[in-house]
Amino acid sequence: MTILDKINYTNYINGIWHRQEKHITVLNPYDNQVIGLVPDCNDYQVREAIEGASLAFKWWRETAAEARADILLKWYHLIISNLDELANILTLEQGKALIDAKNEIIYGANFIKWSAEYANKVLGTSGNGIKPNQKIFIEYEPIGVVGAITPWNFPSAMIARKIAPALAVGCSVVVKPSELTPFSALALAYLAEQAELPKGVLNIITADAEMVGDLMTSHHKIKKISFTGSTRVGKILYQKSAARLHKLSLELGGNAPFIVCNDCDIERTAIDLVTAKIRSSGQACTSPNRIFIQEDIYDLFIAKLESELKKIRAGNGFEPGVEVGPLINQAAAHKILRLLNDAGTKGAKILLGGKILTSTILQPTLVTDCSDDMTIFSEEIFGPVLACYKFKTIPEVIERANNTDYGLASYIYTANLHQAFQIKDQLDFSMVAINEPVISQYKGAFGGRKNSGFGIEGSHLGLYEFMISKYTLFGY
Ligand code: ADP
Repeated sequence: MTILDKINYTNYINGIWHRQEKHITVLNPYDNQVIGLVPDCNDYQVREAIEGASLAFKWWRETAAEARADILLKWYHLIISNLDELANILTLEQGKALIDAKNEIIYGANFIKWSAEYANKVLGTSGNGIKPNQKIFIEYEPIGVVGAITPWNFPSAMIARKIAPALAVGCSVVVKPSELTPFSALALAYLAEQAELPKGVLNIITADAEMVGDLMTSHHKIKKISFTGSTRVGKILYQKSAARLHKLSLELGGNAPFIVCNDCDIERTAIDLVTAKIRSSGQACTSPNRIFIQEDIYDLFIAKLESELKKIRAGNGFEPGVEVGPLINQAAAHKILRLLNDAGTKGAKILLGGKILTSTILQPTLVTDCSDDMTIFSEEIFGPVLACYKFKTIPEVIERANNTDYGLASYIYTANLHQAFQIKDQLDFSMVAINEPVISQYKGAFGGRKNSGFGIEGSHLGLYEFMISKYTLFGY
């Protein structure tokens, strides 16, 4: 029996594999075939998960950090030893190329390992007070039950990235994965159970998104909400959380500039850009969205980019050699066609691709002669489309790159370190990659500013998102 057979029809609530009559159907984005069903929980069951997590929190927080770390490490090893099966589930429900799926699972699993290693290193501080005979202690406590709401583009890693630090510091968690990709979440919970994560500490529920959002933001036993998804939904959760002043982390949309300076290594930059773009078929909030190329190398760079992009095959994520899988659904494909159409009417040229191969597979696309008045300049593309802009000077490109409501990832390619740092200092983005195509890693502080949200995932800072300080003043 495969993991998928075991988790089909289920949710994981308070240590029980819960089934029920009403279901949500999960489809393969490549061919629209049914993969399986998950429960469509009602609010009673979501409350049950929150109550279970709240009970579990009472003693999970008292469990020694070493013991929590041991369980997390066991879970990490189980994930790695079941890599093929987990990647299979991921590609089935999300569509991305199998190699991409494997990389995502390893990327997510590393947050579990890192958090396990860090669980023991959370230290407070102590010292003298402002008067004689006073001592001060500043400690960190786990914040409590965490509500996590995650998207479909990285259905395994976005969950691991939230729950690993939360569990490591002693929080319990209720996760609502995207209804489009719930099996990767349930598969992680299945392996967490095998790693003997105690019941109630991790709960996975699938249900109406708005109902869960309402419950999480209004429930007094939830102490923190960690959300990854659209800016639209992030703002709804922010507003709704005001009533209880829930602590929030919001990882929202991006509009990453990718700045190609005239002194860069053209070949390497083009290869890196394609690597960055095709990850998750371009459906990543860190994906280069606006490619700014300095005018002296514009034609040369476009020619190199075209030859690199031509090598990329789009198709069924399971087929060997395919690097770009389907988009998540037809709505996503139509949105991109709308952006391309708008760009075309305003003077852009589609040099490569631009067509839907089947209902959800978009040919890797190269668009040149883009201008800042096009919708593609301000909207997140979320697909394998390289939209290229020409620039003259560094001050000009910095201004144009910053001319967006978003502030997540940004990229600079130049051989001049001085120039790289000057640009980096002026970019209004929370993450900058210099001569590197993949910015996300467990050691980095992943997070945004402006409409890209706030809060950190990864690095030691990611653990502090799930802790709250306690200051004690002691007189003697
Ligand atoms: P995307 O547009 O990338 O699908 P969404 O923000 O719509 O991003 O979805 C991200 C997650 O938020 C998913 O798990 C989705 O079910 C959930 N979600 C959608 N609408 C709401 C809502 N009103 N309240 C809470 N969660 C929501």
